[in-house]
Amino acid sequence: MSTTNMTQIIDQCFRMDSHANRLYTNLARNAGSQELKVFWQDIATQNETHLIYWNRMQKWAGKGILNNLFDDSRQVLKELTALQEKVHDLADGCLEVRRKEKAFTMAFKLEFYLLHPAFETLSQYVATFNGSADANSSCERFVSRLFDALQQNELSTLELELVGEVIHRLWKENRRMAFLSNYDELTGVFNRRGLFNAITHIAHLAQRNGHTVSALMIDIDRFKAVNDTYGHQFGDEVLRRVADCIRESIRASDVLGRYGGEEFLVFLPHVEVVSLNDVGEKIRKGIETMPDNPAEVTVSIGIAHGLVGREVDKDVKKLIRTADERLLKAKAKGRNCIQL
Ligand code: GH3
Ligand code: MG
Ligand code: MG
Repeated sequence: MSTTNMTQIIDQCFRMDSHANRLYTNLARNAGSQELKVFWQDIATQNETHLIYWNRMQKWAGKGILNNLFDDSRQVLKELTALQEKVHDLADGCLEVRRKEKAFTMAFKLEFYLLHPAFETLSQYVATFNGSADANSSCERFVSRLFDALQQNELSTLELELVGEVIHRLWKENRRMAFLSNYDELTGVFNRRGLFNAITHIAHLAQRNGHTVSALMIDIDRFKAVNDTYGHQFGDEVLRRVADCIRESIRASDVLGRYGGEEFLVFLPHVEVVSLNDVGEKIRKGIETMPDNPAEVTVSIGIAHGLVGREVDKDVKKLIRTADERLLKAKAKGRNCIQL
């Protein structure tokens, strides 16, 4: 996966949102009524905030942080470039649009173009690491706003309504697909792919700031026996509750993912080694004392800690390997314990 591809992908996204901005500004300029003028201008202004996100992402892309976001970034780049050109032409086509209905059709067409799954994946990434509203949820809001405006201006036709509804439904499906590519459906925490994307992000920041990072490998003890005794469905419920319990024991800035079947990985930015014992114990104890725990589920935890050097990916892998080795030690010690 190449940094250049990612940089170019973000560039296409930036351009697409710039065209979108031009389109909405054109619609505002040509709007017949003051009310619609304000409406389109407001949408354009809101859309402009996306450009800030793309700029931020461009910095991340340049550092190689986003390199694992897509399986086939060359294909994504190809598709987004084609889309960008379409959006460019659409915006040009709005220069002279005066009819109100036509303006709404153009806006819907634009939102339809922006339905590319890659766009959605990137937006969810921004939402996760930016700590504020994402670029995308506002896109969904755009469609709702278009819908409301149609009705208020009594422009609603069966066709426009249908288009609006179709786009809305596609957004939702798109969003779910992007979610599932990074999150585990059963527990709601990151899946392996999402986990590594998140870890890479944190590790790069840590490397730049000279901060340490820590990894906790958490494995449910004798989980096979839980399944054998209580059934697979009960086992699934235990996995869900263990994930919830871990999440409640860590900070929002910490990363939690399902590493494998009954293994979870927590990645912590910048924690003193002396506090790691407490973090591990908090998780272990939290699970041991989970209310309503008929199978008396416990976990063993292997913990590793260290600095990240220039070879970020390599050092991260090493850290996780160490955590894994220590997990085995914790198992050998008799389980339901931590190993630092
Ligand atoms: P240990 O204490 O050594 O870790 O023993 P263990 O039984 O937990 O380890 P083992 O690797 O033998 O078994 C893991 C079990 O986890 C076996 C597998 O069926 C179960 N498992 C993995 N994924 C899922 C899942 O999604 N749902 C359920 N219910 N069980 C799962
Ligand atoms: Mg295991
Ligand atoms: Mg196990």
